[in-house]
Amino acid sequence: MTEPALLTLTQLRAGLDRKDFSSVELTSSCLKLIEKHADLNAFIEICEEQALAQAKHADSLLAKGETSPLLGIPLAIKDAIVTAGIRTTCASKMLQNFIPPYDATVIQKLKQEGAVIVAKNNLDEFAMGSSSENSAFGPVKNPWDKKRVPGGSSSGSAAAVAAGLVPGALGTDTGGSVRQPASFCGIVGIKPTYGRVSRYGVVAYASSLDQVGVFGRRTADCATLLQTIAGHDFKDSTSIQQPLPDFSANLETDIKGLKIGVPKEYFEEGLDPQVCDAVKAAIDKLVSLGAQACEVSLPHSQYAVAVYYIIASAEASSNLSRYDGVRYGYRASNPSDLQDLYCRSRSEAFGIEVQRRILMGTFVLSSGYFEAYYLRAQKVRTLIAEDFKRVFENDCDLIACPTAPTTAYLLGEKVQNPLQMYLGDVYTLPASLAGLPGLSLPCGFDSQRLPIGLQLIGRPWDEATLFKVAQAYENATAWKTHAPNLG
Ligand code: GLN
Repeated sequence: MTEPALLTLTQLRAGLDRKDFSSVELTSSCLKLIEKHADLNAFIEICEEQALAQAKHADSLLAKGETSPLLGIPLAIKDAIVTAGIRTTCASKMLQNFIPPYDATVIQKLKQEGAVIVAKNNLDEFAMGSSSENSAFGPVKNPWDKKRVPGGSSSGSAAAVAAGLVPGALGTDTGGSVRQPASFCGIVGIKPTYGRVSRYGVVAYASSLDQVGVFGRRTADCATLLQTIAGHDFKDSTSIQQPLPDFSANLETDIKGLKIGVPKEYFEEGLDPQVCDAVKAAIDKLVSLGAQACEVSLPHSQYAVAVYYIIASAEASSNLSRYDGVRYGYRASNPSDLQDLYCRSRSEAFGIEVQRRILMGTFVLSSGYFEAYYLRAQKVRTLIAEDFKRVFENDCDLIACPTAPTTAYLLGEKVQNPLQMYLGDVYTLPASLAGLPGLSLPCGFDSQRLPIGLQLIGRPWDEATLFKVAQAYENATAWKTHAPNLG
């Protein structure tokens, strides 16, 4: 039998329903691969016992003839999403021993559908970063070239799916943390519209931007995963009551006549020429499939990096104030007084990048600077969102552009230069600030055989169009047949 873990989620569903293999066999196969490829450092916690128990339960339901899209399917979860009874660290020393007493809503939904949670993925500490190098548990390696970063912050989720250790995974995306690692690892990843998925039980980084997203090796796999976790949740007041279309049912529909906007500002200075060529060729391919392409302008997107790092840091400084060494999380030993307890607990347990963001965020919110930075950033955020609104009203049905300006860079290459690292988020941040859905899918390789990602950005609540276009492209191209050689 083919190593079942290497099949796509859709193939696994069919295999489980046909009883080609059981969920226990499939889950064991994933656990073995996870162990075999431990050098990727894609996981923080392996939940072997719970996973096998869940798989056994799934098998008993399958034996009765029951089925549902995720019944018995093993998945991995970014360790920023809380799991009852399973350690949730956010890749921080601050939470290194935190065992949550409850499940996030997305985890509850996966469990209700019979999915098997096999492991928790490594990430950048508190989801702050683009390379995994901010993890307190060491960096994740890119399966295509282990000397390179997998992208971030949902680094372990993307690397694990790309390496075929699990068929799908959950990540979170605040400014690109699902789309950029999907691009660097050559898989599909989608961040839905802000409000589509509940944030209840997702460790907060920047609450006005955070969304849960999903990874798969195929578009259809992502459609199935998003379908399961999406929907209004009264426990998250920013999750929105919106009709949830059947993403899988509409996947294979024609893209004829769809208007694709190509933002001219996203193809200028700073874009690697090989990425530029691959993305342009992908847009030509979509045109050959019946879509129409037109140039559009998103003039305020150029401010997205500055705006995002002000707003996200401001929100982070507030969200992370709860880690005070008193209620839960890391506590410094032998404090001389309360001030010393706060001070040392936070200095000893937060990594350097998290501390940098807290300082930056506190500064931009401080009196005297609030208007100059935070308030101004909020105004520019509105301008960025209005650009999208205008082009979606007048010019196009979706936008196509690069996911990241480069392919995966070398581990260590940008750690000394945070600004350089921030600039790598230039193409994912605008959709985040506007709350729009964004999907990244493989559209080629550079001369070093590193994957390149095409980003599709949609109207609010229109993930269905992104899936449909991604599926048409995937059907018409052969990138999906390439896989990393793990040795
Ligand atoms: N790279 C961005 C940051 O460091 C985005 C992270 C994310 O989406 N969680 O903030």
